[in-house]
Amino acid sequence: MAKVKGDIIIDIEKCKGCELCVEACSQDSLTTSKKVNSKGYLYIVKIEDNCTGCTNCALVCPEGAITVYRKTANRKEQIAKITNVTKDMTITVNE
Ligand code: SF4
Ligand code: SF4
Repeated sequence: MAKVKGDIIIDIEKCKGCELCVEACSQDSLTTSKKVNSKGYLYIVKIEDNCTGCTNCALVCPEGAITVYRKTANRKEQIAKITNVTKDMTITVNE
């Protein structure tokens, strides 16, 4: 079986820099950028290419700013996306 690797996409305009995702990542893949988004928040960036796709960061993010993918050599599949955070929260995790 092909080795599965994780990846994330951060919507930096949604990020408020709370750093909950940084604390939640056991891989130390994330840190706070030195730049701010259009709302003035220091946003989060990925600094290591060691993501396992565990989904912890997406699950703790109160802004729904992180989408998690798991990929093999041939495929990249979205497995976690948090939406409607301010209204009826929707969490989708495909294991
Ligand atoms: S999915 Fe897991 S390993 Fe990847 S950045 Fe998020 S918390 Fe870290
Ligand atoms: S948990 Fe969400 S809002 Fe908080 S720093 Fe991480 S991406 Fe930004």
